Amino acid sequence: MNRAARLLELQKIDLEIKDKLKRMREISQTLQEDPLADLREKHEEMRRDLEYLESLQRELELELLGISDHLEEQEQLLYSGRIRNPKELAHLQKEVEALKRRRDQLDERLMASLERTEQLRNRFSELERQLKEAEARWEEQRAKWETVERKVKRYLLLLRRQRELLRKRIPPGDLKLYEELARLKGGVAVAELKEGVCSVCGVSVPQRQIEAVRRGDELITCSNCERILAIVT
Ligand SMILES: [Zn+2]
Repeated sequence: MNRAARLLELQKIDLEIKDKLKRMREISQTLQEDPLADLREKHEEMRRDLEYLESLQRELELELLGISDHLEEQEQLLYSGRIRNPKELAHLQKEVEALKRRRDQLDERLMASLERTEQLRNRFSELERQLKEAEARWEEQRAKWETVERKVKRYLLLLRRQRELLRKRIPPGDLKLYEELARLKGGVAVAELKEGVCSVCGVSVPQRQIEAVRRGDELITCSNCERILAIVT
């Protein structure tokens, strides 16, 4: 392999490393994202709603229990015969009626509340099932990404090792020129010479230069794009 061809080889490795580093960044970004955030939030919101409805229901139940006890006492008193004063009796009768109305109202509210809670509980279980499924799917996806990540990491190590070995076989002056050009030209410092044409910019290369590139004892650059010309043999 002549000087220019070695640089072309180095460039292939450098570009591959660049590409794989980009891939690693993409994977790590994907792994950091939480695609279930919205669903989890919705789940949490519904859990709180359900908790609130359940506590409301318990309050209603307790109130109803209290009213029912009180009503029972007052009714017993009303029919006990212990109160004889007509005014007092009429008053007690009214109180019993009021308590009954209150009890019936609470009863109705409790029924409605039970129904609402039941509906929400059903929706909540459905959402919980969806969330669990989505979590399982994401875990599976995650594991796949992690496998890809490990593979790319291993490949990167191999590329870096190859790069190191190759660089040792390249004269320091050539490396310096390659690095300068790579910096200026988006990482593409070397252009392959194909059928007498620079494969990057498409300009024809004079015969005399083609022969020099083929001999490979000096570095020839393209007169148009200034990249180092290399022939792959
Ligand atoms: Zn060119």
